[in-house]
Amino acid sequence: MRRDNSRRRRGGNWLILAVVLALGAGIWWYCGRQAEESADEQQMILLRHSAEGTTEEIALEDALVGFVAAEMPASYAEAALQAQAVAARSFVMSRYLADGEVCDDTAHCLAYLDEDARRQRWGLGFAANEEKIRAAVVSTAGQVLLRDGEPVAAYFHASCGGMTESMKAVWGGTEPYPAAECYWDGGAADGQARFLTRAEMAELLELDEVSLPLLCVTARSASGRVREVSCGSRHWSGSEFRSLLGLSSTNFNWLNTAEGFLFSVWGHGHGVGMCQRGAGGMAAAGYDYRGILQVYYGGCTVGMASEGEDTDTDTDTDTDTAGSGQD
Ligand SMILES: [Zn+2]
Ligand SMILES: [Zn+2]
Repeated sequence: MRRDNSRRRRGGNWLILAVVLALGAGIWWYCGRQAEESADEQQMILLRHSAEGTTEEIALEDALVGFVAAEMPASYAEAALQAQAVAARSFVMSRYLADGEVCDDTAHCLAYLDEDARRQRWGLGFAANEEKIRAAVVSTAGQVLLRDGEPVAAYFHASCGGMTESMKAVWGGTEPYPAAECYWDGGAADGQARFLTRAEMAELLELDEVSLPLLCVTARSASGRVREVSCGSRHWSGSEFRSLLGLSSTNFNWLNTAEGFLFSVWGHGHGVGMCQRGAGGMAAAGYDYRGILQVYYGGCTVGMASEGEDTDTDTDTDTDTAGSGQD
């Protein structure tokens, strides 16, 4: 009898142990699923730090705080920072889908400041600026510019000087959004002068000084930017000429004087996509971020990257997906 009882008790213990183990395994499986699901929800990207030569895996939304902080002054109104967050998210997604990574080389992708760099840049203003930029990212979480359901390579630049440039004119290929008139960046007031002596010009262009009078603009884009400069049989693209002479954009004219060449240059950067100063001006004038994006990325819609299409339609252009290119 006693023996039977103890055997029964032992059997009961085994049963309890089995139930506990099964429960434990169930909880472990459930927690694992939950963790997997939340990791799934968070879009991760590979961010290459060009100077250090390292690559880190980082959540897109966290990386965006660093991209927006690096690309636009934190003093800009919230709507401009939100427009910048959506544009940067679109650019990063489009680059990431094409290349499998994004880098912080501004000549290839876009500028990035990690938290240490942001603390350094903002000093005592860190907490306030960090909160402002994070709010712009969080309030637009997941939103990108879409064309045919794909995130668009949404380029942006410091200022356009009155008219943005078509992507096709700068890098060829397709044109996901057209050039746009910009009334909010101070336009001509942003023009700057650059003087180069004849000797400096000859050296930078590797020309004989005597042939300099032959220098002329042989093609301009619809926005008025220089597409080609020639000197006899020599030809430069507007971008090559700009970078050889250190001009801030290809939106320039020159005056050939006895002493040298006096350049007038409007805007800063390649001119494609959103004019950041213009976005700042629009935000200050009361436009919301969708209104800003509609001006600079005509024909694109604002929607969730994961869902393809949704809101705010504005279709008035002709071509489809983004081309590639560099600053
Ligand atoms: Zn890159
Ligand atoms: Zn502008």
